[in-house]
This record gives sequence, structure tokens and C-alpha cells, in this order.
Amino acid sequence: MIYLDNAATTKPDEECLKKAEKYLYTDYYNPSAVYAGGYNLHKELASAKENIISTIADSENFGLIFTSCGTEADNQALFCGGKRGNVVTTLGEHSAIFAAANELKQRGLDVRFAPLNRDGSVNSDELVKLIDEKTSLVSVIHASNETGAINDINKIAAAVKAKNKYTLFHSDGVQAFGKFAFTLSRNIDLYSVSAHKIGGIKGCGALFKRKNLVLKPFIFGGGQESGLRSGTENVFAIKDFEFAALKRYAILDKAFAYVSELKKRLSDSLDKNVFRIISPANGSPYILTVSAVGLRGETLVHECDDKGLVIGNGAACSSNDKKRYSRVILACGQPESVADGVLRISFSPENSLEEVQKAAEILNFTAKNRKSIME
Ligand code: PLP
Repeated sequence: MIYLDNAATTKPDEECLKKAEKYLYTDYYNPSAVYAGGYNLHKELASAKENIISTIADSENFGLIFTSCGTEADNQALFCGGKRGNVVTTLGEHSAIFAAANELKQRGLDVRFAPLNRDGSVNSDELVKLIDEKTSLVSVIHASNETGAINDINKIAAAVKAKNKYTLFHSDGVQAFGKFAFTLSRNIDLYSVSAHKIGGIKGCGALFKRKNLVLKPFIFGGGQESGLRSGTENVFAIKDFEFAALKRYAILDKAFAYVSELKKRLSDSLDKNVFRIISPANGSPYILTVSAVGLRGETLVHECDDKGLVIGNGAACSSNDKKRYSRVILACGQPESVADGVLRISFSPENSLEEVQKAAEILNFTAKNRKSIME
């Protein structure tokens, strides 16, 4: 099987799992317990936090709240940051933000959506125009999970603060963290990440938080995570996430160059009479979105699956969103015929060039075959 749906989830890194195993079998204490076993785990969580922060921020200015997933981190940012006035976000957000923003709207908040450029990045001039003195929060996705387009969040956050210095700036970094180099500037207040996109296990995420920012708790209870997110910590998943993040950041640039080559190889090998490239050339090398215009992406996903190639058709993580066309692809200005044929091929540094070459052959054969059946 050739697995090229790494933006949906990655295979858990075995070495990291082995290292974290002791937190399941021997060091299984509650980190809030006062005896030595518990206290030691409390310290282990603190070091996991420091280590994860150090990958993209400085721990003098940033703290971290562990969550159960990227979706929870996004919801915490939106529901705890977007409390009054209006909230500004984009039409290119993952449903973890988009649906939460619509819920805020239902609750009576004025929610404004900034339009996208053709490649899936936000039109930042239009975004800034939506901000006024009543804007409590702006949320902009860092790397689009649908096209791989990258928003320059440090630049956008600076423009947001220049318009209203009291507005909080959040970014959903789930498809950016561990994928390419960047550091969080001091204009960024909140930043969401998720473990299972970089070789960690599912069910673990985190929200970076600027230290002097006062937030209300999201989940009330025993007061874990400095009272901001109660619930006994999943030490195993958190330590596994720490190991996976450190491993990924140790090879970040090398992995970036390698995955760029994988993307180029696949993109170059696709038959351009059948496939149109949707992803921007300067987007994340981890995501290649194409459209088999006139065909149904979902049908091609099944047919490729039968031939041993696993790819996605848009946002697999919104599995209950059964709409035929991706709202993000339509918001890029693409017609329904293009949106219908969308396929998302996403890479990991563990994929080989041979796999990518074979994937191109399967894709070309499958799409041409389907096209001939339809003609
Ligand atoms: N944000 C983006 C951009 C994503 O791609 C995803 C998942 O695909 C999420 C948020 C949700 O992350 P999780 O699966 O950890 O809840």
C-alpha cells in the first residue's frame, strides 16, 4: 500500500512510541498526585511543554496548553478569545474554526469572513478592512489543509495589531507545525498544533499562548493546565508528541527539501490533459492538490484505493461534512466542475521516490480509464 494521505493523519513514529511506552506501563501515575511518581510526571509534562515551545517560539513569551486534539485547541482559541464585539476569520479555515465561528454567530456575535485568493491563501488587505475597534479576535489558518497555501501569519498579525492593538490574533497551525521553518512573533497570541500530523498519535494537541494573555478556562474541573483546560493529562500521548516534534524539528530543513522533491516528482509526472494543479508553487511541499476536471474525486479515491494507493479528496478530517463540493475550493473562485474533481495528495518524509512514481502511474491510469468510460 502506498500511503499519500499524510495531511489527514500520519503513521505513528515507532521509535517515539517505544520511548513513550513507559508512560503507559510503568509511569502511569496521575501527574497531579503528590507522591514521587506523580510529581515526577508533573515535571515530565513541564519539560514536554518547554521542548515543544522551543521548536517555534521562546518560552519567555509563550506558554502551552495541552489539549485532546487540534480541533479542541482551535475551539478554545475561538470560544475563549472571541468573546465580544466581532470576530474576523477567513473562508479558508478548517471546519474546526469555521464551524466554531458559525456557532459564535448563532450565539449572537458578529462574525466576518475574509475572502481568499485563487490559491487558497487569505486576501489579507480585505481581512484587515474587516477589523474595527470592536474586533476581539482574528483567526487565520497558517497552511491550508485543502490547497497547502501558506499565509504569512507574522505579517498578517502585525497588520491586525496595527489596526487594533487590543485584537487577539490566533492561527491554526495544524498543517504547518513540523512542516516548515517559522517562529511565532510577539504579535501572535494563540497558535494551535496537533500531534498526529507529524508522527505523534491521535488525540493530542496543544494551544500556544502568549504568556501575559489572560484567558478564561475552556474546560472546568480539577484545574490542570493552569486552570485553563481541566482533565487528567494524557502523559503518554503528550510525551509521544514531544518526542515526535523534537525528531521532526531535528530534520526539518532536510525533510522540507526531500518532500519538495516528492511533490515536484509527482506533479511533473501527472498527465496534464487530465489533472489540473490547484496547489500554489510556493505552498507547503507536504500537500499537492489537483483536480481531475470533469471527474468525481471521490470515485477516483475509491478506484486508486482498490489499486493500493491511498489519497484524499479534500478535507478527510471533516468526515461528517457530506457536502459534494469543498467550500474552500469554491471560495478560491474555482467552478464546481473543478471542485468536484479535487484530490489531495499529501506526503511524509517516510515516502519514497519510487512510491511517488508509482502513485503517478496509478493516478494517470485510473483517471484516463474513468474518463474513457464516461465519454
Ligand atoms: N486544523 C487543520 C488545518 C487540520 O488540517 C486539522 C485536521 O486535519 C485540524 C485542525 C484538526 O486537528 P485534529 O484532527 O487534531 O482535531
